[in-house]
Amino acid sequence: MALQVSIAANEETKPSARLSNVVLTTEEIEQATDLSDVVQRFCRYVQIDSQSDPLNSEETPSNPQEFDMAHLLAHELRVLGAEDVSVDAHSYVTASVPASAGAENLPALALISHIDSTPDAPAVGVKPQIVHYEGGNLEIGYNKGKLVYVSPKNVADLESFKGQDIVTSNGTTLLSADDKAGVAEIMALVARIAEVPTIAHPTLKIAFVPDEELGHGAALLDLENFGATWGYTIDGEAVGELNYECFNACDVAINIEGIVVHPGFAKDKMVNALSVWREFDDMIPTNERPEDTDGYEGYYHCYRLKGKPDFAHANYILRDFDAKNFEARKEFLQNAAAKINDAYGYEVMTVRIKEDYRNMAEKLKGMEFLVDEVVASFEANGVKPLVRPCRGGTDGAQLTFRGLPCPNIGTGACECHSVREFVPVPSLEKNVEVLQDLVGRFAKPHEVA
Ligand SMILES: [Zn+2]
Repeated sequence: MALQVSIAANEETKPSARLSNVVLTTEEIEQATDLSDVVQRFCRYVQIDSQSDPLNSEETPSNPQEFDMAHLLAHELRVLGAEDVSVDAHSYVTASVPASAGAENLPALALISHIDSTPDAPAVGVKPQIVHYEGGNLEIGYNKGKLVYVSPKNVADLESFKGQDIVTSNGTTLLSADDKAGVAEIMALVARIAEVPTIAHPTLKIAFVPDEELGHGAALLDLENFGATWGYTIDGEAVGELNYECFNACDVAINIEGIVVHPGFAKDKMVNALSVWREFDDMIPTNERPEDTDGYEGYYHCYRLKGKPDFAHANYILRDFDAKNFEARKEFLQNAAAKINDAYGYEVMTVRIKEDYRNMAEKLKGMEFLVDEVVASFEANGVKPLVRPCRGGTDGAQLTFRGLPCPNIGTGACECHSVREFVPVPSLEKNVEVLQDLVGRFAKPHEVA
């Protein structure tokens, strides 16, 4: 209690004047007439609350507020002349942008982003501002009396934004650039095409999906009606980032049935489910946990454990880029359980494995042009390609396995999932150029090898 009082007092004494690096406050952004379309859109979209809710993950959308974002985007798409615009009962927005002249018979290309913000940080009442960055720490604002800033020690390429205007929150919430930067970039491209119909592009299929942050953003997207042949999710971090490889992923649920006896008379009779879990977990190589792995290394991760001597339940996730190693990991856990069952002489533990998603690189074989064309668009726009394996899943991984090949492209956002999240203005603008270049490349035929 005492601590809370002291924080409150501290908050009152925080500096109330705007930071000296602030170029435009939220109110000033709304009045400004010289901001580019993508920046205006972005600052507008982040002010609409649409944080997904992990406590309501059985429903889609998990937060009914996601509909506010969905309906706004659908309205704007209609105003821009998009066709077949719809918001379905789960707040999926889909729309079609007709092809430019001569590209009508080419396969439709999908552009996909998500409308929810992560529940990992406060995301209600986002107040975007534009600050000017001149190197050193990027100061954002005050949160509970403490200065929020990004340090070049934590973000290695921070100094590469020196001299740029950067959009941040006011420091009390995340910015929601993940993934409203992606949404704004796609919308700015659609607006540009509406204005200049000669911009070359095949039919574009646009989808804005809910609840990506809960891991099932694209799960309910009706691919048959959607009608795209291939596409991209715009949901990465830095401009130039491209992910087409991701983990193979599964969830492992373990149940352990103990035998309970009065502890005073337990010798050679009791089987404590908690001790059995410890034996099982000790068999997992200690250097193959998330905190010990990086790059292309896979891992085992216990993320939930609850139990008493009579019964324990644990969940693990398994991750591996390589399909063979992935199977070997599953087998390893099953063998470990079998050994324990043998030792106890009864089925003390059971292992249930549920596959979550697969490495999309497997399914992109023969369609390497989906990667090559993005790299070419980056290079044509002076952006250094950062092709990285994605140590997590993307909507694209799921879509790729459901039959819509979908590598993932960065949005320009940095420090996502925190109140330090930011996106440089030139990154937003550059990505619209990249997307325009990219859709132009699909106004020509591509051969699947
Ligand atoms: Zn995202």
